[in-house]
Amino acid sequence: MTISRALSPTTVTLILMGAVAIAVPFFTASYGIYVASLMLINVLIAVSYNFLIGYTQQFSLGHVALYAIGAYGTAAGVVHLGLPYVLAIPFGATLACLGGVLVALPALRLKIFYLAISTLALTMLVHWGLMHGGALTGGGSGLRVGRADFAAIGLSADQGAFYLILAAVTVIILIAYRIMASHVGRRMLCIGEREVIAGALGIPVYHTKVKVFAVSGLLVGLAGGFAVLLLGFADPETFFIINVILFFMFVIVGGRKFILGSVVGAVFLTGMWEYLRLLQGLHEIGLGLLLLAFMMFMPVGIVGALAAKFPAWREMRHAAGIAERTDAGRTTEVIERARARHKALDSDGQSTVARIPAAAGHNDTGVPDGHSSVSEPPVVELLGVSKRFGGVVALNNIELSFSPGQIHGIIGPNGSGKSTLINIMSGVVKPDSGSLRLFDENVTGQTPSLMARKGIVRSFQDTKLVPSLTVLENVMLGSDKWRTAGAVAAAVGTKTFRHEERQAISDARWALDFVSMSEFENRLGNQLSGGQMRLVEIARAVASQSPLILLDEPAAGLSLNRIDSLRNLILRLKNELGVTVILVEHVLNLVFEASDDVTVLAAGEVIFRGTPEQARDDEQVRSAYLGSHR
Ligand code: ADP
Ligand code: MG
Repeated sequence: MTISRALSPTTVTLILMGAVAIAVPFFTASYGIYVASLMLINVLIAVSYNFLIGYTQQFSLGHVALYAIGAYGTAAGVVHLGLPYVLAIPFGATLACLGGVLVALPALRLKIFYLAISTLALTMLVHWGLMHGGALTGGGSGLRVGRADFAAIGLSADQGAFYLILAAVTVIILIAYRIMASHVGRRMLCIGEREVIAGALGIPVYHTKVKVFAVSGLLVGLAGGFAVLLLGFADPETFFIINVILFFMFVIVGGRKFILGSVVGAVFLTGMWEYLRLLQGLHEIGLGLLLLAFMMFMPVGIVGALAAKFPAWREMRHAAGIAERTDAGRTTEVIERARARHKALDSDGQSTVARIPAAAGHNDTGVPDGHSSVSEPPVVELLGVSKRFGGVVALNNIELSFSPGQIHGIIGPNGSGKSTLINIMSGVVKPDSGSLRLFDENVTGQTPSLMARKGIVRSFQDTKLVPSLTVLENVMLGSDKWRTAGAVAAAVGTKTFRHEERQAISDARWALDFVSMSEFENRLGNQLSGGQMRLVEIARAVASQSPLILLDEPAAGLSLNRIDSLRNLILRLKNELGVTVILVEHVLNLVFEASDDVTVLAAGEVIFRGTPEQARDDEQVRSAYLGSHR
């Protein structure tokens, strides 16, 4: 641990960049300075592209177009507007940033394949525009700009450009590390790997994506500006087609989802490219073969492979220092905070009553007060809700309400509409008709994100953890919806940001302790058994401090022993945390033993509602299960 902390990515970057700053201009001729500058520019491209196609997995092929927009914006700024480079480069980058937002618009709607194709079309369109832009773009021969003059500070044009680019890229990498190690980076990974989860946890998926496109566009536009600074011109060929593949390779070869991967990939491939060019005409083939080799033998890239071999080297995604010093929170404090949060929502008028019943395990009498709350309004109400999928009526005119502080079991044969019911209550599926009330407020048709922020959290039938986040980080996603600090605060490391980060860690540790999974906190999300993942998912729900938890078949695939402890855990959710639980389950014994009341669905209709004892004895319930298992 101490070695990896002493050699934090930040330290390594500073040492490396310092060495480059000293070595390159003094020990190489101008070609060496040129190649080093190009490497740095490509590092910037790789980092920005990695945000998009690595972390957030928005498969855009429009990055080259944004690069060109940054370059041409810079060149046009100097040539047509008479701006100095220091203003022209930010001007070009701003244009590319706006371009990034434009690319984001289709990306928010299109599936991966269509996004790739439509952004490729955009790239070709921009290329065409540059070729036919007349005096504005200089057509096929491009815009000649002339180098910036650094004589005033005693540097040649090459050296001046090199140092400027080096300084900018170093600062950007350091900022990128910080942001990727924060909740913003975790959000991006969650959106990239498990978008449904992000929405269900109240992470602002839409906003995050737009911001990633904007920042990514800004950075690649900056790279375009630097390229003009380095070359002294912008021409259509420098910025096209082969670059679509090259940019992609920077990220893949280095290792997606690692900032260090982008650095390694860009430096390695730029060097390779310059070398292969000596082989006259074979360089494109060489590049193609290299890409194939990596895809086949090292799909996770160089840094990805290293990180798998040496876990201590794994880029630490939550501030390691903070995590080491943070203890698990205490139940009473977490409950207090949850109450305060929901009260705050209440007084803002954004939500009416999101009740957190008293923590029964911690009150004076030790008697659960869930039962005293019968007169309180229901936490969820479905009023005449129907949903069909094509010809299938998944839910037919459902009237249901669930009172606070209790465990509500929902059973029914396969395909009876249980998951659809949960999906509707959590906003993942919109009802065709009828309305939905959450905490006494009409939320029909609202997004999952909004429902999550109103106080609902759910698990999924097919368990979903974010594979490349650790268990602790996965659980931290639960309370992400309460974060107020953004990317800038994370980059600067403001007091609010650090406080929230520490709180998220301590809440996550408390939640992991609640489900007895503390010892696994440093495992990756994909290194657990199915049963363990279930528990982590429940911990994530607990960490979200939501008054209402929906569980979709949490016992599926668990052994009898584990089902027993799951039952105790669910009872503790109610008794110790005062949470309302809606439990959809196939394992009838679990439902009968844990629930306060049971609802039976069959073919999209409620055929029974009553106590577990009544359900056991009911003729209709039994016949609904005849022919179905159990
Ligand atoms: P359960 O969870 O009780 O097994 P579901 O709610 O998953 O049942 O499904 C109810 C019915 O709706 C089934 O017939 C299922 O095939 C159908 N259904 C559910 N979701 C979809 C979907 N996204 N597209 C098409 N049909 C669906
Ligand atoms: Mg289901």
